[in-house]
Amino acid sequence: MATNTVTNWFGDLVSHPRVIVDANSVADIVAVLKDPGTYPAPVRAVGSNHSTSPCGVAEGGTLIRIKMDRILQIGDDTLTVEAGATHLTMAKQLEAANKQFYVNTEIGSLTAGSASIAGTKDASMPGEFGQVGSYIIGVKMVRPDGSLIDVTEDGDPALMQKIRSSYGTFGIVYEVTYRIRGLLPMDVHHKTWDLEEFIAILPELKALNYSMMYYMFPFDNKITVEFRKYNPTATGTPNRSAWALRNHIWGTSGPKLGHDVEENFDDPDVRYGIIDSFNAAWRFQLENFVVSDNTVPGDQIIEYPPVSDDHRYTFSLFAFDEAEYPRILTEFYKYANDYYQQKGYRSNLLYVGYRILQDQKALLSYSWDTNVMTIDPVSTGNPGWKDFLADYNKFCFQRGGKPLLNQTFGLTAEIVKTAFGDRWTAFADARKALDPDGRLLNDYFRGLLA
Ligand SMILES: Cc1cc2nc3c(=O)[nH]c(=O)nc-3n(C[C@H](O)[C@H](O)[C@H](O)COP(=O)(O)OP(=O)(O)OC[C@H]3O[C@@H](n4cnc5c(N)ncnc54)[C@H](O)[C@@H]3O)c2cc1C
Repeated sequence: MATNTVTNWFGDLVSHPRVIVDANSVADIVAVLKDPGTYPAPVRAVGSNHSTSPCGVAEGGTLIRIKMDRILQIGDDTLTVEAGATHLTMAKQLEAANKQFYVNTEIGSLTAGSASIAGTKDASMPGEFGQVGSYIIGVKMVRPDGSLIDVTEDGDPALMQKIRSSYGTFGIVYEVTYRIRGLLPMDVHHKTWDLEEFIAILPELKALNYSMMYYMFPFDNKITVEFRKYNPTATGTPNRSAWALRNHIWGTSGPKLGHDVEENFDDPDVRYGIIDSFNAAWRFQLENFVVSDNTVPGDQIIEYPPVSDDHRYTFSLFAFDEAEYPRILTEFYKYANDYYQQKGYRSNLLYVGYRILQDQKALLSYSWDTNVMTIDPVSTGNPGWKDFLADYNKFCFQRGGKPLLNQTFGLTAEIVKTAFGDRWTAFADARKALDPDGRLLNDYFRGLLA
């Protein structure tokens, strides 16, 4: 009988593992995998449980909560940590040693274990990858039979490539090594365009060679682009308020307003009038205050509370070939407006996107074939959100969108097979060879692999 109830951080994915184990050492993980009688399948590990898909669910099985979070070594260009170390904690330690990550995602709760085997996204810095795992060069895992394995980029690049997309179906990760770099000052600024102006100027913007993340406002026909570039010649004291302001609006005041407006205003004109006004003020703040030629890269990382409250938000995403993106984005703005007109639903926050460079470091990379640009709806999960996502999935599927198995909600076997083709078959074969009895396979992956 299932006796435990566990949810993801946002709270919308509920499961009932029969056993929950807090892993404080490798021996704790080995003990689980060696004893199927006490610890039933599926065995799944979670870090901060922030995923927005049921990839970490262990319904009726064994959930391992990774508690090992020590930083083991900061070298000249490598960082080695236990799998439960979070990105915010690691970034702070790196900064103290005058170092930084290559990819500084905004989510501080991301654990090293998850980053090493699951999807992530951040706007690629010029000439760099935008997926955290692409800079992970070694993992140590406990295999489904309880034995240990140590895999490195130098020793076995083909296996490392598969592990970066294995989502805990090959083994449970207990140690992770990142490639890191020396700390650099970073320039950030924002600019807003109407959609048509943005589409026209996009080739010029790409040629500027900045990273590009963007906030999309389909109901005002606007888009605000965040441009970032390292600025090694910057002097003086870094600006530490620019990212703090961005983080506050993005991680706290924005979602809180979405939540409160939802609770207090039934009239859609009033509700979305308030949200659109807030978004206009947000654009103003981004353009005028989140601007500096000298910021600290790690300051972009947001500290989310361990237990979510009414500042929480959720999202989904698909990535598209950047050559097709102007057409797809134009169609998406129309689609979001049409959906609102016809079904009465729109997100009560905003939509964002990232430009991520081509990357074959992970087998199921969503930018394997080309540079990509994403469309990510963001919401407090207001009524109609899940139905909207089911429809948005169709919109993206019809346009060749590539998902992330831990961040795109509502995936089907058809979506993943079509998106990844032969790479999906290669993943299925590797998984079967490494875990023939399916001890680490939950219903989510079983369904996708059907
Ligand atoms: C508010 C919010 C903001 C976010 N912002 C971003 C963002 O800016 N960029 C981005 O890329 N993502 C973002 N995400 C998504 C998030 O980074 C991913 O879902 C990520 O997987 C979360 O890390 P985690 O440690 O919580 O992973 P979990 O959800 O705990 O696990 C993810 C997957 O990895 C497996 N797993 C975890 N640890 C291990 C291990 N040690 N061994 C084997 N398998 C393991 C789990 O079973 C699961 O399948 C955000 C999510 C939220 C809710």
